[in-house]
Amino acid sequence: MCIPFLFVCGEHQTTKKLGQARFCANCSTKNGAQLFETSGRFHFCYIPLCKTGGSRRFYRCVTCGAMYPA
Ligand SMILES: [Zn+2]
Repeated sequence: MCIPFLFVCGEHQTTKKLGQARFCANCSTKNGAQLFETSGRFHFCYIPLCKTGGSRRFYRCVTCGAMYPA
């Protein structure tokens, strides 16, 4: 009898808030657009091994959801 082993690997994306904010041109909320950074990490069995690709920064408005490139 053989026991199947399931190895899970892939890419996991994390998004973190960087604490900067700016005016949202879409809904005119002052400091409504928050700066976020996403970075991809390759994982094997949910253990992060290395960073894949580059990180990406963007502004996203917490009020209306509009996104702007940083
Ligand atoms: Zn907005």
